[in-house]
Amino acid sequence: MPASQPATPHDPLPDTPAGAPVVTRFAPSPTGYLHIGGARTALFNWLYARGRGGKFLLRIEDTDRARSTPEATEAILKGLSWLGLDWDGEPISQFERADRHAEVARELMANGSAYPCYTGPAEIEAWREAHPNQTFVSPWRDADPATRPDAPYAIRLRAPREGQTVIADAVQGDVTFRNDQLDDMVLLRSDGTPTYMLAVVVDDHDMGVTHVIRGDDHLTNAARQAQVFDAMGWPRPVFAHIPLIHGTDGKKLSKRHGAVGLHEFAAEGYPAAAMRNYLARLGWSHGDDELFDDAQARAWFDLPGIGRAPARLDFRKLEHVSGHHIGAMDDAALLSEIMAFLIETGRPALTPVQVSRLTPALPALKEKAKTLPQLLDQARFALIDRPVEADEKAAKALDPVSKGILAELTAALQNANWTRDDLEAVAGTVAQANGVGLGKIAAPLRAALAGRTATPSVFDMMIALGREETLARLGDVAG
Ligand code: GLU
Repeated sequence: MPASQPATPHDPLPDTPAGAPVVTRFAPSPTGYLHIGGARTALFNWLYARGRGGKFLLRIEDTDRARSTPEATEAILKGLSWLGLDWDGEPISQFERADRHAEVARELMANGSAYPCYTGPAEIEAWREAHPNQTFVSPWRDADPATRPDAPYAIRLRAPREGQTVIADAVQGDVTFRNDQLDDMVLLRSDGTPTYMLAVVVDDHDMGVTHVIRGDDHLTNAARQAQVFDAMGWPRPVFAHIPLIHGTDGKKLSKRHGAVGLHEFAAEGYPAAAMRNYLARLGWSHGDDELFDDAQARAWFDLPGIGRAPARLDFRKLEHVSGHHIGAMDDAALLSEIMAFLIETGRPALTPVQVSRLTPALPALKEKAKTLPQLLDQARFALIDRPVEADEKAAKALDPVSKGILAELTAALQNANWTRDDLEAVAGTVAQANGVGLGKIAAPLRAALAGRTATPSVFDMMIALGREETLARLGDVAG
């Protein structure tokens, strides 16, 4: 940006040192499905990297062997793919890197930044009970190395006891932790397994991660992780801790608020493009822009635009965004979206006949639908086969007089050009000849063509169904 121009909220701020390639990562623990909060974290990391020609990496934090499952990993990858977030390279398994983590712990011990601790968990527990609210400092921290016994030990970080650890967070600002309140955390347990806190740092370093964008429930971890980065002499990544998502009532999002799994939103028929737009706005803003496409999101997304207050999940807003994206989608993309949705929700795939009737109806349908089920509900006329069964309300519109008018209309339509203007003109003429308004024949027409009273415009339906099918459906009911 030329120096003469003042910064505006729309200018990307230099959150990256010029020229440094950006590497972000999403690091889910595979213990369940992809939560909406996790999906947003992944999206922010993806947008940040993709908008800067950087890399977006995936690391599966599967060190908790009891809780991690391959099914959960699969569900998370599936969720990310559904959302359209592609990652670079193969997903990395944290568990498989345990040897490397241990190696770093030993390196830290060798350079004096860590030490062996022979105090067992039971002893520490007893100490804590006797010293409530105090930070445990291992007696082995300053013990003479000559006194070390020949026994299993844990490796602890020799963390600074004085001063402060400050996280210069790109969202939260400077966050200060008193070092005397952070204990010498264990890096390697006495059974040789690395701790999570060590693993994260080693992995982020080895993966070349430049920006750690994640939920602010990890802010305290950042202080401990920063100490490990510092001890290794590795540069810290830029930390950006984003506030968690809350429900409409301002409380932490939970099942009680409705859908919380990304798959649930997919099953409710919000297209992925709409979810990307909506989730991007959940906690981040770019001026007053509410509706945008992927290219805009990639160009605009930045860290200064992330707010410090928790964003609230708002289903009404989501519907609005979803309606916009359905309307903006081209017909072919919308059709594939519908097909994927049907398969995903365990419904039969569309037959070629259904596709041929649905396709011409899409321009009208997509203007009104806010979700895919809403669209499919309005598209029902195109998906059903003859004979059309009228529901109770629609059946009432098929009284003998109306049936007579439909018979006349059927005859008059035989020679009509199948254009909207022509169809309207023919219907108008028949209505006039019977001394009724167009509305009076629309109701039985809806019943005959769709078996319902709430349908798209009768002319849109006639055009989508085509001459043959329309006349056949009218012939089925006309008296
Ligand atoms: N595995 C952690 C989680 O799922 C994320 C850790 C991180 O992003 O550093 O919450």
